[in-house]
Amino acid sequence: MKILVAGGAGFIGSHLCERLLAEGDEVYCLDNLSTGQRANIEPLAGQSRFHFREADVSESLADEPAVDAIFHLASPASPPGYFQRPLETMLANSLGTHRLLALAQRQGARLLFASTSEVYGDPLEHPQSETYWGNVNPVGMRSCYDESKRFGEAITMVYVQKYGVDARVVRIFNTYGPRSDPDDGRLVPNFVTQALRGTSLTVYGDGSQTRSLCYVSDLVEGLVRALRTPGTRGGIFNLGNPDEHTILEYAQIIKRQTASPSPIVFVDMPSEDEPTRRKPDIARAREVLGWEPKVGLSEGLDRTIAWFRERLDR
Ligand code: UDP
Repeated sequence: MKILVAGGAGFIGSHLCERLLAEGDEVYCLDNLSTGQRANIEPLAGQSRFHFREADVSESLADEPAVDAIFHLASPASPPGYFQRPLETMLANSLGTHRLLALAQRQGARLLFASTSEVYGDPLEHPQSETYWGNVNPVGMRSCYDESKRFGEAITMVYVQKYGVDARVVRIFNTYGPRSDPDDGRLVPNFVTQALRGTSLTVYGDGSQTRSLCYVSDLVEGLVRALRTPGTRGGIFNLGNPDEHTILEYAQIIKRQTASPSPIVFVDMPSEDEPTRRKPDIARAREVLGWEPKVGLSEGLDRTIAWFRERLDR
C-alpha cells in the first residue's frame, strides 16, 4: 500500500513508518518537526520506499501523492509539548484532521485518527471503555489537547457518516519506548534519564495517581490492525496496556531496573486537571482486532533503558 503517515517523525510515528516499510509499504512521512525529530527518521531515509516532506497538516495539503491509507498522528502529545504549543495543537487536531479527512475522501483512502485516553479527562469510570463519554474540563490547562482531540473524533465521525469515508479512531493510552523524547517531560523519559544521570526522580504530588504503560511495538501493532482489519470503518478503539501502577511504583521500578542511587522526591503537581487514574478496557480491541499487548513492563523498560543509556553515553 501507499501510506501517508502524518506525524511520522514523532516518537510513535517513526516506529510506525519503520514497521510499514518492513511490511513492504511505500511510506510518505509528513511532519512539521515541531515535536517530531529528524533524528527519528534518519535511519529510514536511505530506503527507496520512504519519502519525507516537512509540512504542517493544518496548512494546505494540495500536492499530496495519491495514497491508499492515511495515519493522522500529527500533534504534540506530551503535556509540556502541548502547554508550549496550545494553538498549534488545536489546529493540528481540528483543521489538520479536516484536511486529512478531505484528502482521504478525494483519494478514496482509508484513514486512522490517533486520538487519546485524554478524551476521558479525569475519568469517573474505571477502567475506561470506549462507551464512556469522559469527564473533561473544557477550559482547563489540558483542554487545548483534550478538546481538540474530541473535536478530531467528532469530525472523523462526520466524514464517516455523512461523506462515506473509511475512517476509524484509536484512543492511545500512555506509551513508552526507545525514541521517546528525553526532554518532553513525560513519566518514562523523565524517570529513566533522572535515574541514569543520578539526579532525583521527581514524583509529582504524592505519586498515588495511576497510569498504564504500553510498549511502543505493541501500540504500533494495534495501529496497523485498526487500519487493516476489515469492518473497522467508524470504529473507536482503546489501545493501551491495562497493567496499571501508581506513579510512585513506576519510580521505584525504574530506580530498581537502572540500579540507580537516585533518591525519589515529591514535588508539586505542575498542572491542574491531572487525571487521577487511567487504565484502558481493551475488550473491544481484543475482540475486533485480535490485539493485545505482548511486552511486559519489565522487558519494555529494559529495552527503553538500554536506548536511553546509549543515547546519554553518546
Ligand atoms: N509524572 C511525574 N513526574 C514526572 C513526570 C510525570 O510524577 O517527572 C507523572 C504525572 O504527574 C502523571 C504521570 O506521571 O501522573 C504521567 O505523566 P505524563 O506527562 O507522562 O503523561 P499524562 O498521562 O499525564 O498525559
